[in-house]
Amino acid sequence: MASIPPGTLKRCDLCQVEIRGMAGGQDQVIFSQGGPGTRAKLWARVCQFVREPQRCLNQDATLRGQGLPEDFYGEPPSLGAFGGGSPPSP
Ligand SMILES: [Zn+2]
Repeated sequence: MASIPPGTLKRCDLCQVEIRGMAGGQDQVIFSQGGPGTRAKLWARVCQFVREPQRCLNQDATLRGQGLPEDFYGEPPSLGAFGGGSPPSP
């Protein structure tokens, strides 16, 4: 499983995303929707479900690193949507 040289863009035909090699190893994943993300996020949302992992560019655990909980469960819900009552005034 080859890593991507810094500055190079590679497309994963299976996942329909492009991965840009970055110096330092934190490659950037360009999703078709939303902003760029990490390999861990791509794997959590797409690559772990693919049927032909041998054709996926993002199956190397050492390259993608540890995923964050929000990578798996979407954006964290915003707090403070409930309540909001003001104290009673005299
Ligand atoms: Zn992939």
